[in-house]
Amino acid sequence: MPGREKSVIVASKSAGPNFDGRTRQGRVRFAVLKSWTRFTVCLLCLLLATLPAEAAAKKSKRSRKVRRPAPAPAIPWPAHVSTIVIDAGHGGHDRGGIPFQRIGEKDMTLDVARRLSGELQRAGFRTVLTRRDDTFISLPERVAISNAQHEAVFVSIHFNAAFREGAHGFETHYCAASAARLAASIQSNLIHATRTENRGVKHATFYVLRNARIPAVLVECGFLTNRDEGNLTLKPSHRARMAGLIARGIIARCRD
Ligand SMILES: [Zn+2]
Repeated sequence: MPGREKSVIVASKSAGPNFDGRTRQGRVRFAVLKSWTRFTVCLLCLLLATLPAEAAAKKSKRSRKVRRPAPAPAIPWPAHVSTIVIDAGHGGHDRGGIPFQRIGEKDMTLDVARRLSGELQRAGFRTVLTRRDDTFISLPERVAISNAQHEAVFVSIHFNAAFREGAHGFETHYCAASAARLAASIQSNLIHATRTENRGVKHATFYVLRNARIPAVLVECGFLTNRDEGNLTLKPSHRARMAGLIARGIIARCRD
């Protein structure tokens, strides 16, 4: 306030012998006391405002720790495998692959999955297909079907795609350590019987693999965007051969 400022300035400038010291000194002391009080009150306010913020920060740190997801439990390999869940990738409005791809992945995966089911049934296994026709099944639905099975393993069938036409070869993915040998068995059967590139057995965290509570693998049966592999896959005899080789890999591991 302008008036109060003036009285303080006058008091400090005109301190002399004729000056009414007691009154003016009192005013100065009062002004100093007032500003100290204000300062102390402000300091207290600041302290009070900071305390809840610090407490909230500590609490949020604690809650962040609590919310951290628990590590996924280890998935054991079943003592006896009686059921193979066969998952034909994509379907319905989900054609698979990359945009404008010549060959629809969803049709090739369904055909290989059906043939694989026949091969495994002939070998004495019970099979469960996540889809039997050209319908869209969501990834959580596929996982739910697989996790409802007992003494079972999950095999997802896909074909690869790339914008680089030269890309080719087979690869097999797994997530849980217990599925690594199943992936290796399928991959080695595919590679030994064909002349294509071995792209290897790879650890991956695809949705259907990381959420499966049974050993799960995903097979990429060649590149539909590669002219040679695409044309080969269009032949029913080649798809039958792929299904036979994958079945051989599954049987070898499940009857190990
Ligand atoms: Zn796919």
